[in-house]
Amino acid sequence: MNDATPAQTAARTRVTAIAGDGIGPEVMRATQQILAAAGAQVDWEDALAGAEAFRKGIATGAPKETLDSIARNGVALKGPLETPVGFGEKSANVTLRKVFEMYGNIRPVRELPGIRTPFAGRGIDFVVVRENVEDLYAGIEHMQTPGVAQCLKLITEVGCERIVRLAASLALAEGRKKVTVAHKANIMKLTEGMMKRVGEQVLKEYPDLQHESMIVDNCAHQMVIRPEQFDVTVMTNMNGDILSDLAAGLVGGLGVAPSANLGDACAMFEAVHGSAPQIAGKGLANPTALLLSAVMMLRHIGDFATARKVEHALYVTLEEGKDLTGDIAAPGQGVGTQAFTDRVIANLGRESAAVPAREYRPITLQRWPAITWYKAAATRELVGVDVFVESERDPRAIGITLAAAAEGSAFTLKMISSRGTQVWPEQGGNTFLVDHFRARFLFREPPKGDAVAEITDLLNRIGRQHRWMHLEKLQRFDGADAFSKAQGEG
Ligand code: NAD
Repeated sequence: MNDATPAQTAARTRVTAIAGDGIGPEVMRATQQILAAAGAQVDWEDALAGAEAFRKGIATGAPKETLDSIARNGVALKGPLETPVGFGEKSANVTLRKVFEMYGNIRPVRELPGIRTPFAGRGIDFVVVRENVEDLYAGIEHMQTPGVAQCLKLITEVGCERIVRLAASLALAEGRKKVTVAHKANIMKLTEGMMKRVGEQVLKEYPDLQHESMIVDNCAHQMVIRPEQFDVTVMTNMNGDILSDLAAGLVGGLGVAPSANLGDACAMFEAVHGSAPQIAGKGLANPTALLLSAVMMLRHIGDFATARKVEHALYVTLEEGKDLTGDIAAPGQGVGTQAFTDRVIANLGRESAAVPAREYRPITLQRWPAITWYKAAATRELVGVDVFVESERDPRAIGITLAAAAEGSAFTLKMISSRGTQVWPEQGGNTFLVDHFRARFLFREPPKGDAVAEITDLLNRIGRQHRWMHLEKLQRFDGADAFSKAQGEG
């Protein structure tokens, strides 16, 4: 799928295998058996991550040997990893995705034969492409006051561009026709608006693809009402997290949902489900999701024929409904993981007529510079600051004290907002108040001297009467405001 060279010896590819926790080892064993029987030219390199790593005191959940193995091979197949409470708080999954900058999360959503859902027979066949490393998942959180929390939503132009290009490449590789950019630009004009704007701009370069933008809440609604309309959808991290699970629910749920995490140098394939501790070690787990992830992996390493063979053996097995695991079998007829695996192996070489064929070609991933990405602006102006203060007083009292504090400084107080809505000067309504206010100060005239000294002076003045906890500069880049207005701000 990308232009990194997977570790190959002759025609064989070495792949890092992380069996993972709970049912992980069982579904990994089943998948490896089926791939071996199908003749996949893969050599597995076992690596550890998850609960056992945490128990050994490795705070990231992924030991260096595992990271080295993935870096060396460029391809990994991974079982579910627990994030055990009490052994550190970082998720080993997120560590692996972030360390290798696997920015593209690919979640195919395809109706599977024999899987009963309220949507069966509608021919659902689309892909959710989710940005995997930015957005609220950067995990930059701060308590602003004892009762008010904040999480930074960081979206970058390069992050939007590369995920949209990935979605377009995937669409072309799979012979798909349309890319839908889902966003919440109507509310978050700078962050979600960036995804919409960059998406529209970049997709113009792909004349063979139709493209559209859709507000993400409507996209959720449309996925349930008329899922057949989608082909490839692309969105920011949190929207993609939620909508990809919703989409998985349309075609049989997390137990049968595969995924890929793609970056410039590495790709990691994994089932969407977790470690299912209730059934772990009992030989009951359904390996379908990991097997379909392995099919994606085979295509990634260029083995399209084996991918098709495995996929169809699985489809035939599901279609005939014999020897299915308990989660998808008719009531009372479920078998264990091994019997299901043996059935898929017995069906290797058979083709399912139920699933329309899809053409797959290698995906071309653009390589992004290894150096820090930097975008310059031709002009920048500093026009003011937003200072966030904690106060139990009412907005009028805060307005009087802050306006007085700014007297004699380089700033005037323009407005105060509570959770984004202007509350000073008053404009009616009944905004509920908490102890967290944003005060917007504008420079009386463009700063000529040391603007930082002017800001420090303002903070000192404010600090005499109020607790302030953070500050944002108000800038203009290339003549355009680089900040949003408050609700109700003139
Ligand atoms: P889960 O996906 O493990 O289980 C949800 C339900 O689905 C359970 O009833 C389970 O028995 C069933 N199920 C899941 N996979 C199945 C399979 N292959 N065959 C049959 N039944 C299956 O979700 P959870 O219980 O919320 O999470 C358990 C643990 O997994 C947690 O520690 C969580 O952090 C972790 N987790 C890891 C990943 C990952 O590694 N990508 C994803 C989700 C959850």
